[in-house]
Amino acid sequence: MLIKRDFYINGQWVAPAVPRDCNVIDPSNEEVCAVISLGSPADTDAAVAAAKAAFPAWAATPPAARRAYVVKILERYEARKEEFARAISMEMGSPLDHARNSQAPCLPWHTDNFLTAFDHIEWVRPLGPHAPNDRLALEPIGVVGLITPWNWPVNQIALKAIPAILAGCTCVLKPSEESPLNAMMFAEFCHEAGLPAGVFNLVNGDGMGVGAHLTTHPDVEMISFTGSTRAGKAISVAAAETLKRVTLELGGKGANVIFDDADDRAVERGVRHMMDNTGQSCNAPSRMLVQRGSYDRAVQIAAQVADSIKVGSAHEEGNHIGPVVNRRQWEQIQGFIRKGIDEGARLVAGGPGLPDGFNRGFYIKPTIFADVVPGMTIEREEIFGPVMCMIPFDTEADAVRISNDTPYGLANYVQTQDGAKRNRMALALKAGMVQTNGKSRGAGSPFGGVKSSGRAREGGILGLEEFLEVKAISGWDSAAE
Ligand code: NAD
Repeated sequence: MLIKRDFYINGQWVAPAVPRDCNVIDPSNEEVCAVISLGSPADTDAAVAAAKAAFPAWAATPPAARRAYVVKILERYEARKEEFARAISMEMGSPLDHARNSQAPCLPWHTDNFLTAFDHIEWVRPLGPHAPNDRLALEPIGVVGLITPWNWPVNQIALKAIPAILAGCTCVLKPSEESPLNAMMFAEFCHEAGLPAGVFNLVNGDGMGVGAHLTTHPDVEMISFTGSTRAGKAISVAAAETLKRVTLELGGKGANVIFDDADDRAVERGVRHMMDNTGQSCNAPSRMLVQRGSYDRAVQIAAQVADSIKVGSAHEEGNHIGPVVNRRQWEQIQGFIRKGIDEGARLVAGGPGLPDGFNRGFYIKPTIFADVVPGMTIEREEIFGPVMCMIPFDTEADAVRISNDTPYGLANYVQTQDGAKRNRMALALKAGMVQTNGKSRGAGSPFGGVKSSGRAREGGILGLEEFLEVKAISGWDSAAE
C-alpha cells in the first residue's frame, strides 16, 4: 500500500496542515491501495498563495522558456510512463493495456498539440487593417484552480495544467480523490523538470473541502472544471461572488445515429466505443439510434458484440474492460439497469448483478437495452457505465429531433455513406462535437459541449486561449516594436 499523504506546494512536498486520511480503493479487488490526505482550507490557502507569488515572474518568463519546461515535463513522462500507466490502472480500474495505450498517452498527445498551437500564437496582434494602430495583447489570466475527475484522469490534467503553464498562468490542481496517484506523479514530473516553485501546486481533497474553497477563493481568477453537471452548477454559483472565469466540461448523453446506408462495421464500432473505459466517458455514444430498416439486425449485432466483451481485473493484460471506479458508481449503474427493465426496455445483453465468476470488485456486465423509448430514465440520464440504449427511428428529421431532445450536448455521432446527409446531420445536431463514420477528430480539435454539457473548449489553440485574457490597445507605436 502506498502512503502519499503530502501535497505539492511551492515546489516542495509538504505535510497537510490538519491530518485527514483518505483511502484510495482499488476497484478491481476493493482493497485499499493507497492512503492520501484530504486538504483543509489552510492547505488550499498555502497553495493559492504560492501560485499568486509565483505568477508575476512566470507570466514574464519568455514563451520559449515556458515551452522548454513543458518539453521537460514530457521527457519525465516518457521516462516513467509504465509506472504512470500502472498507477492509473490501479486507482481507477483501467486494464493495464488500456491504461498504457489509451489513458497515459493522453498526456503526450495533448501536450504535443498544445505545443504546436503555442508556437503559432501571436501574443500582440493587429486588430485589422481598418485600425492600423490597434493591437490585441494576450495575457495569462492569473492563478487558476483546476478540478478534475477520475474517469480519464490524466487526460483532464493534461487539458488543463499544460495550457495553463504554457499560457503563463500559475495553478493549483485538485484531482479527484478517487484517482490522485497519477496526479501526484504529474507533480513529480513538474518538479523533476525544474518548473519554478509555485507555478504548479497540488492539493488533494474532496469537492466540498478543497474544491469548494478554490471556487470561492478571492485570489483564484479562474476555475477549469471537468466532472458532473451537478458539481458544475454548484461551482458556477460559488464562483459568481468573485466573478471568476469558469470553464465547465460536464456530462453527456451522446446520440449515435446509424442510417440504413451506414457501413457494415457501424454497429460494432458504436458498441465498442460505448464500452471503452467501462462506459465511463462523458462523450460515450450511449444512445444508438438505428433507422428502422436495419434496426432488428443492429440489435442482434449489438447484443453479440456486448456478449463478446470480456470483463476482468485491471491488473491483467488484454483487451477486456475493467471495473467501474467505486461502489457508489456500481450501485448507481445497477439502479439504472433495474430502472430500464422496470420501465419496459428490452434487455438484450448483460443485465443486473456481477458478471459470472466475480464476487468482489466493481464489475458490471456490458449491457444493451433495445426498444428504448425517448423519455425513459435510461434514455435521459447519464449512466456512466457500460450500458447502451437502442432506439429505432424512421426519418432524418426524427433522428435529429430525438438526438437533440436531451439536456446534454457534448458529442454526437453519425453513420451514413451519403456525404450530403452526413453534412446536414453534423450541422443539425446540437452538440460541441460531431464525429462521423468512426473518424476521430483531428489533432488540436476542441473538446467541449453546449447546454448541460458545459461550454468549455479544451485542447489545441482554443484550449490555450481559455487561459488567456485579451487586452485591447489603441495608439500602438509600431515603429517602437
Ligand atoms: P463529481 O463532479 O462529483 O467530481 C468531479 C471533481 O469535482 C472531483 O475532483 C470532485 O472532488 C470535485 N467536486 C465535486 N463537487 C464539487 C464542488 N461542489 N465544488 C468543487 N469541486 C467539486 O463527479 P463524481 O462524483 O466523481 O461522478 C459523478 C458523476 O459525474 C458520474 O456519474 C458522471 O455522470 C459524471 N462525471 C462526468 C465526467 C466528465 O468527464 N464529464 C467525469 C466524471 C464524472
